[in-house]
Amino acid sequence: MATYEYHCRECGPFEVRHPIGQAPAEASCGQCGASAPRRFSPPAVRQVSPALGRALDAQAASAYEPKVVTRP
Ligand SMILES: [Zn+2]
Repeated sequence: MATYEYHCRECGPFEVRHPIGQAPAEASCGQCGASAPRRFSPPAVRQVSPALGRALDAQAASAYEPKVVTRP
């Protein structure tokens, strides 16, 4: 996952998290619901190895949606 920045004309900038490479060009503003274009900002790219990136993504995902163990 990566954080992408969008800019609502009414409310200003806001951030949305999407899987890398799957961020849409526009997103709905969380405050007014208007369609806001994406802003491209270099700091959103992490400078880590692919393995560490996957580990960090897995850790972040488990914070929101813990994996449920169905078998011992
Ligand atoms: Zn807005």
